[in-house]
Amino acid sequence: MNPFDYSRAGTLTEAVVAAAREPTASFVAGGTNLVDLMKANVARPTRLIDLSRLPLARIEETRAGGLRLGALVTNADTAYDPRVAARYPLVTQAILAGASPQLRNVATNGGNLLQRTRCHYFYAPATACNKREPGSGCAAREGQNRMHAILGASEHCVAVHPSDFCVALAALEAVIHVTGADGDRAIPFEEFHRLPGDTPERDNVLVAGDVITAIELPPNAFQANSYYLKVRDRKSYAFALISVAAALEMDGGIVRAVRLAMGGVAHKPWRRREAEAVLVGRAPDAEQLGRAADVLLEGAEPLEHNAFKPTLARRAIVRALTEAARS
Ligand code: SF4
Repeated sequence: MNPFDYSRAGTLTEAVVAAAREPTASFVAGGTNLVDLMKANVARPTRLIDLSRLPLARIEETRAGGLRLGALVTNADTAYDPRVAARYPLVTQAILAGASPQLRNVATNGGNLLQRTRCHYFYAPATACNKREPGSGCAAREGQNRMHAILGASEHCVAVHPSDFCVALAALEAVIHVTGADGDRAIPFEEFHRLPGDTPERDNVLVAGDVITAIELPPNAFQANSYYLKVRDRKSYAFALISVAAALEMDGGIVRAVRLAMGGVAHKPWRRREAEAVLVGRAPDAEQLGRAADVLLEGAEPLEHNAFKPTLARRAIVRALTEAARS
């Protein structure tokens, strides 16, 4: 681990100014991913700017009737908040499917969005990795790529986003609130994370000095029919091979509205509105669910070791929607 300085931000403005002054600094809150990256010599910040004392650890009602999750609320406190559990069960299910109780007690909501891929080559500085060292190549393309992407990848990177929480947030059309050098802005969730293209080192659209302050959940009517399914190698403390966030609004056995997002398949949570449109106005029978799955997976390109993923993904989508329809 490289030597680094440490300072604690007393206010949001202090944090933004400190980061602008020292572009090689990193913000830290729970540190559950950043510290691992520093130990592996993948992240080498010259300073850690500690955000953990900022007043961003509350869950509040919004005027629109939704909830605003403070960026510093822990994943555990978010999952077990009675308002979140009752009104956004998909969020609770997704968070509790991720990491371990110990990590969820410390990891923050803002940090969850910013966690980096778990591609093993990314954590191994002796290997080629365009995300860690732009221009060095991608060891996963010809190496072990069982966990990797089947959708939206590029020749430069085939990594997947590791978060479960983010898959639920994609389905719920959350909005990310950010404060940076140019003031406050709100970013629709689907625009927050990026596909790798030819700049895989950039996971999201934030720029230096941006601080995530909150995640806004708009009101919805999906409470009665939502389901998060995670398929993984171990029952707990494992990243998704495939995950599916499915939410339905039902009206007398007919789908009135639907949201569908996947994890474990792309560099960001994967959503395609055309797949959702297949189901609207129809009964969610096996044929329609299968058609929606096929549209969501259109263009899938497996790698050498994950040829099983399209089939597994199709079955997971159908099962998650089936569970959501009857929950
Ligand atoms: Fe690096 Fe991405 Fe290739 Fe993994 S898939 S080695 S993160 S460039």
